Amino acid sequence: MWQSLIANFAVVGLFGFGWLHAQDLLRQVKRRDRHAIFGVVMGAGGIASMLMSSELQPGVYFDLRGCFIAMAAFLGGPAAVLISTILAGSFRVVLGGAGVLGALMSLALVSAIGLIARALRARYGGGWIAILLFAAASAVAPIAGFVLLPEVALGPALAVAPPIILLGLVSTFAATCFLVHGEIKTKEQKLLRAAFDQAPDYLFVKDRESRFVAVNSLAATDHGFASPVELRGRSDFDVVPHELARRLFNTEQELLRTGGSILDREELVDPDANPPRWVLTSKVAVRNIDGEVIGLAGAARDISERKALEQALLEGRKQLDLVLTAMSDGLARFDANGVLVFSNEQYRAMFPLTRDVRVPGVSLADILSAAAERGEQKHIPKNRDKWVAAVVATLVTGGEEEVPLFDGHWLHIRTRPMSGGGATVVVSDITNLKRAEAGLLALTEQLKTMATTDALTGLANRRGFDERLSDETLRAARNRLPLSLIMVDIDRFKSYNDRYGHQAGDDCLKLVAAALRAGLRRPADIAARYGGEEMALILPETDQQGAWELAEQLRQAVRALALAHACSDKTIVTVSLGVATLDPGAGTEAAMELVRRADAALYIAKDAGRDRVMGWGERHAARA
Ligand code: GH3
Ligand code: MG
Ligand code: MG
Repeated sequence: MWQSLIANFAVVGLFGFGWLHAQDLLRQVKRRDRHAIFGVVMGAGGIASMLMSSELQPGVYFDLRGCFIAMAAFLGGPAAVLISTILAGSFRVVLGGAGVLGALMSLALVSAIGLIARALRARYGGGWIAILLFAAASAVAPIAGFVLLPEVALGPALAVAPPIILLGLVSTFAATCFLVHGEIKTKEQKLLRAAFDQAPDYLFVKDRESRFVAVNSLAATDHGFASPVELRGRSDFDVVPHELARRLFNTEQELLRTGGSILDREELVDPDANPPRWVLTSKVAVRNIDGEVIGLAGAARDISERKALEQALLEGRKQLDLVLTAMSDGLARFDANGVLVFSNEQYRAMFPLTRDVRVPGVSLADILSAAAERGEQKHIPKNRDKWVAAVVATLVTGGEEEVPLFDGHWLHIRTRPMSGGGATVVVSDITNLKRAEAGLLALTEQLKTMATTDALTGLANRRGFDERLSDETLRAARNRLPLSLIMVDIDRFKSYNDRYGHQAGDDCLKLVAAALRAGLRRPADIAARYGGEEMALILPETDQQGAWELAEQLRQAVRALALAHACSDKTIVTVSLGVATLDPGAGTEAAMELVRRADAALYIAKDAGRDRVMGWGERHAARA
């Protein structure tokens, strides 16, 4: 009997060992199928155990079949234990004999204990103590089947029960521990293998001859192989162009010789691809426990896209540099703290007194202070701090301004805030523009003067006269002030022309006009050529009396010129003058009336013998 039990013990060990080693073959088998196979194997173990059983009484067998059934339940679950119990139970029925019923009952009990122990372990966990309790329960349980044994067998059965229970306990405990341990190991291995295989980089292990020992899925598929296994035993010469393979081989052999490593090396593996293919590689020599280099492990990553982006960025920057140096505008960039981070040469050159501070690292506030201190910019407000703060604020708000420099240059400065904080400042030299603008303004002014000036005499022309008279009438009405007008006409001028010629007539006209203008005493007085040899004098804020006195002085002034006029009874050039005055508050419609009255007065002066002053509405005799 003891030989039989020892043989049984060996069978348990053999099946456990066998199952563990079969794990590698079953790697690709799904869990459900694996449990079914485990059930078959444990069932077979039970049968093998029964084949080596010892027959205590005819038809009553003792062996370790319960150990297999318990393990099938505990490690494989319901499906596994069902299969193993059916197999072992069927075989036991075929063996037949008096112990069949007791044996079947024992199998059922052991199955149940195995399943309960499995459920408890799943819920509460537990290490070897849990396994020991399970092993003890499953070893004791078959004793319950004794109640179904024939009476003759009961005595001898009870006698051998203790060693059998003990052996059952030991073998179940040992085999289960062994398998659980194996299961954990297998799980770890699977995880490692899956992690290696599914890693997002190319992973590879090579032997001393640079041949692939293992690669992961990505490395295989990206190089046109269906599975990693196909790459086993090949080298880079089978995978990449010869020249590249040679280069890789040489560096790897060097690495294997020195036992060193390569970290993050960027390698251009296909310059003709679009985009060019770049790979980032790390390789390290692998040593065994004795310190000998036995191969190398490596990881590589496709960085073509990143490289393409880097390249594009570089190109863009070059282009930008080119533009920045070629552009005529000055350009500066300030960060969110108002500190200059970039300025081109033009920008610095446009500010000749502060070019040394318009460089990265200096704040706009400091630059402005320097500009103010060194007198670079004209028209800086007295409150310098306030001005600096206002300009710095444009970095946030944006702004545009024209700035005059100390040397007559004008700069147009545009500040544009940027979305990420900070601002770009573009400076254009607008000196020429400003000069042209000033020239244009002067020209316009000149044209305006020309349009209202008489070319011959330099007095206001008729258009100028009309404008000024209308203005002054309005002003007088608004301010309730008097306004006077003197109309002046040269006497016998027609015959002067006839006698001395038209050119001399012009000269005479000029002299008379100059004398009239010189005779005006207030800056607000206006002298105009009304038409022909007739002139008009507008006298704001002057009453009838004042105007008349001035007119008389002007008459004298012309006489004082003493221009010979042979055809005049006065023998010299004389003028007749008509004076009219608008009383304060005369109204705005009065301009025409004023001219009409002065004209009428002039007519009367002519009529009265010329060379005299006449006021409208009253006769003033001139002293001839
Ligand atoms: P009076 O005014 O004393 O009655 O006689 P008058 O000879 O001056 O008469 P009238 O006003 O009719 O003549 C004006 C003359 O003035 C006509 C024209 O020959 C001359 N005259 C007008 N404008 C100009 C001018 O611009 N240059 C010259 N040389 N002569 C002018
Ligand atoms: Mg005249
Ligand atoms: Mg006239």
